[in-house]
Order: sequence, then C-alpha cells, then structure tokens
Amino acid sequence: MLVAGSANADFVVRAAHIPAPGETVMGGDLSIVPGGKGANQAVAAARAGGCCTTMLLALGDDASGAILERSLSDAGVEARVVRSARATGAALITVSDTAENAITVAPGANATLLPEHLPDLAGIDWLVLQLETPIATVTAYAQAARAAGVKVMLNVAPAQAVPDALLSAVDVLVANEEELAVLVGSDGSILDRLSRLPVPLGIVTLGARGSCALAGGDAIFQPAFLVQAIDTTAAGDTFCGALAAALAQGAAPEDALRSASAAAALATTAAGAQASIPTQADVARLLAG
Ligand code: ADP
Repeated sequence: MLVAGSANADFVVRAAHIPAPGETVMGGDLSIVPGGKGANQAVAAARAGGCCTTMLLALGDDASGAILERSLSDAGVEARVVRSARATGAALITVSDTAENAITVAPGANATLLPEHLPDLAGIDWLVLQLETPIATVTAYAQAARAAGVKVMLNVAPAQAVPDALLSAVDVLVANEEELAVLVGSDGSILDRLSRLPVPLGIVTLGARGSCALAGGDAIFQPAFLVQAIDTTAAGDTFCGALAAALAQGAAPEDALRSASAAAALATTAAGAQASIPTQADVARLLAG
C-alpha cells in the first residue's frame, strides 16, 4: 500500500475550551508530536497490519522533518521523502477539556509535492490520498493509480470541493459530515447524500455516533465503540488507515468498517496523533469484546 500525502509536526496545547475569535485562552504545556493526515494514515495502516506500507511525502530539512521520519520508521512505514526548501508542515492544535479540537495548518513542504514525484506503482495494490497536498497532485496520483489498476481511497479532508477528474478515479471515499456537505450538500438523509457520490464505496464518519457506508447500493451502519474519549485528534485518520489496511487484506466493507471503528475509538482514548494510534493487538482485544 502506498499512502501519498501530508506530514506535519503537531504543536499541541490543551485548554479549558477552544478560543473564540479574538479570545486568548491560557493552556497547558506545549507538546510537539508527529502528525499530518497522510502520515497519520500511513502509521494507522501499518499498525493495522497493512503489509509493506510505504509513504510518499515532502519534508523540509529541519528538526520537525526528522521527528516525522523517525515516527514513520518506528511504525514500520517505508518513507520516500521529497526534500523541500520549505519548512516541514506544521499544525497548531488546541484540544479542549471536552476532547474537541481546533486546528490551523501551515502546509510548508506539503505544498511542494508534485505529480512527477509519484513513484512507479508496480507492486502497489492500494493508494491512499487526502487533501492536505495540492489538489492537482492528488488528482494526478489518483488518475495514474486508476490507469495502473491500483485501488484508490480518498479521504476528502480537510473539507474542499473535489474536481470530477479526481472523484471519477476513486474507489473508496471517506468523509466526515462537514466534508460530505461540501461535496453533495446537506439535503436529505445521510444515505441520500452518500448515494450522490459517484464512487463504489462511500463512507461518512459521524464522530461518537459511528459511521455509515453505501457499498454498491447496500447501506451499512457501524455504531461507534463505547470508550472514554479524551482526545479525538487523528480519530478520522486512524479510521482511514485501518480501513485501507482491512480492505487491502480482502475484508468485506462491513468488516473493514468495524475494525476501522474499533481502531478509531481506541485512538480517542490517548493523547496526540500518531502516538494515539492503536496496534492490531489492541484492536483485536476491543473487537473480541
Ligand atoms: P474526523 O475526526 O475526521 O471528523 P470523526 O469525528 O467522524 O472524524 O471520527 C472518525 C471515527 O472515529 C468515527 O466514525 C468513530 O468510529 C470514531 N470516533 C470518533 N469519536 C469517537 C468517540 N468519542 N468514541 C468512539 N469512537 C469515536
């Protein structure tokens, strides 16, 4: 599996609540941890047993880049690094006492990932993409994968409109409610909205309510696992990485959704992005009940 996308150093501070515009909130100590949607999803796929997970990413020549490379390698992800003259991407994250988060991203090196950086796809079964790198690059990668017979999963995050040229090359699309609304509006039931996506498998994640999928006309609802959530950072990324790993291992959509939900639930029980992503053994324990 190849994950192509973003990597950010997350600058995280916990605070009683997320500041409103113009407000200053005193928080706890700063922690700097590896994150970014692409890197989080690569780590989640590798921890979920995704065989031979490789990640294509762009990093600056700086301390944040070194933290990110080490984190990928510790998780067993093979990193293909495009070295950029720009600073490694950064995310400024506030986490509230109610486990909500607010995030500002400085893309830096991530904005320099280009269509020509895509490696040869021989031997790759799945390509996993998100929208924190330039949309023209993501579109080119999806089209190259489609042409090479590689399955494409797209997590349409952060929320933005997606060109038809990209959507038509996607096999599995994962969105949260806000991201889905940008693509297909918010009229009708969740299933109506999913049915407007021109993809074989469309999935919407609903936070603590769970997730819902439309797989070739069949509706699947997967409730969230009941856990004590303390930090939802990377819940969606863990869901995507674990889902990709399960589908790549041949799981049926409902089984892939179940293990992705278990992995994502566990990710909310620990602080941080990549640090909070559970191993396959942790997920198996939760699934066994
Ligand atoms: P995003 O962070 O991308 O907005 P969601 O908040 O929808 O994504 O979360 C993704 C998935 O993580 C959900 O579908 C659910 O399976 C799981 N999840 C999120 N929050 C919780 C929670 N409080 N308890 C259990 N599972 C959760």
